[in-house]
Amino acid sequence: MEVKRVAVVGGGVAGMTAALRLAEAGYAVDLFEAAPALGGRTKSFYDEELNEWVDNGPHAMVGAYHGTLKLLADIEALNNVSWQSSLTLSLWDKTRGFFDLKASSWLPVNLALVWAAYRLPGHDIRSIKAMLKLAMTMTNRDDQQTVQQWMDEIKAPKRLVEDMLNVLCLGVMNEAMNTAKAKTFARVLALSFSSHRNAKMGWFNQPLSQSLVAPLADKLRAVGVNVELRHSVRKLDDLNHDAVVLALPAFARNRLLGLHDEIETQAITNIHLWFEEKVVLPNMMQGMLGTYGQWLFDVSAMMKSESELQHLCVIVSADESEQLQKELLALVLSEIEMMLSITLPKPKKVRFVREKRATVLVREHTDVDLPSHVFDIGEAPQIGELPATIELAVLSGEKVVGLVHLSHEKRA
Ligand SMILES: Cc1cc2nc3c(=O)[nH]c(=O)nc-3n(C[C@H](O)[C@H](O)[C@H](O)COP(=O)(O)OP(=O)(O)OC[C@H]3O[C@@H](n4cnc5c(N)ncnc54)[C@H](O)[C@@H]3O)c2cc1C
Repeated sequence: MEVKRVAVVGGGVAGMTAALRLAEAGYAVDLFEAAPALGGRTKSFYDEELNEWVDNGPHAMVGAYHGTLKLLADIEALNNVSWQSSLTLSLWDKTRGFFDLKASSWLPVNLALVWAAYRLPGHDIRSIKAMLKLAMTMTNRDDQQTVQQWMDEIKAPKRLVEDMLNVLCLGVMNEAMNTAKAKTFARVLALSFSSHRNAKMGWFNQPLSQSLVAPLADKLRAVGVNVELRHSVRKLDDLNHDAVVLALPAFARNRLLGLHDEIETQAITNIHLWFEEKVVLPNMMQGMLGTYGQWLFDVSAMMKSESELQHLCVIVSADESEQLQKELLALVLSEIEMMLSITLPKPKKVRFVREKRATVLVREHTDVDLPSHVFDIGEAPQIGELPATIELAVLSGEKVVGLVHLSHEKRA
């Protein structure tokens, strides 16, 4: 039987997963990637001065990323992720200092969370009531409702919103509560908090280039995928394959198709800091409340790095202009000093990484008209679906074999 040829456009997680599964299913696959390396937004850069790989931005995940975990198992990379033993969100604010939202494992996870919220400093029975109401109202969210409107509806106390719900919303949806869609937030909460195993946070314990991209690229080679780097596909007509898979975020897909519809995205700025002296952080992933910096990651501890320099990374859901970098650096350093009650040594090196279009926002994305042999699996998260994450990319890549098979059967 003639082997069908499939072109996959885009070598991020979605495209690599699609290419892998198509090749495993017996298709002859060409994977086209515009950049000089695979990985897309899960990328690392090599810093010559430091002689090390650095992720554009640290990526976290939760145990509910079942698709990602299955993929990591298939590419023998499960050990490249480390996990919390039980869900803990380590938080800090100016008035209360450090405190944890910790779901103890002796209760079912949803009750454990209610209890954990109650035990946060400054919380009372109102937090318990709001958490129970939140759980009871998860299933019937209106498409257009925002997370903020949902919180107003259940009369969530301001403290609970600030300490927990806003942190989770920004963390999982990369969008503020006043515009983030409640239906997707509810889906994420329901998935993540369905068991203790799902609720745990995990992180890559080596740079993404080694922990995720290299094992995927090795597997692609092993199953015979032809990878074409530095190959930007400009027109669909340039590809003469039996099927074409577009694994591009919606704005890049529109650019390729010559469409001008605006796609809403959200930026992330990562401020990488390297210190010659040890800066002791109480937690590896530290949520910061009421500050410009939203998260402070101890990358050296996450990666169990043997480098003599300590690498910290401040994460902000925003795109800051280059002109502001000096002021912002001074601001985040002063925030860390206030948090740790120390005077920081001068960082040996600082690097701002701005990802202007870090994630495509959850919206009512309209399907584009495509020829019947072209399949769009790119990032365009619909309301009620998962937000733009590694998990969404993996699941989009996984579904492609079914789509391509079906279309061939129809045409046969
Ligand atoms: C700083 C940052 C932090 C993040 N943190 C997290 C996190 O903690 N947890 C989490 O789950 N997710 C996180 N994400 C989101 C996650 O990285 C993305 O959702 C996911 O990697 C998207 O993968 P993708 O394959 O869909 O798209 P991409 O990774 O964008 O891949 C698309 C690829 O297509 C290529 N391309 C574009 N146009 C063409 C063309 N015409 N021809 C050929 N190739 C083309 C691009 O170069 C790119 O490599 C983060 C993202 C960023 C930027």
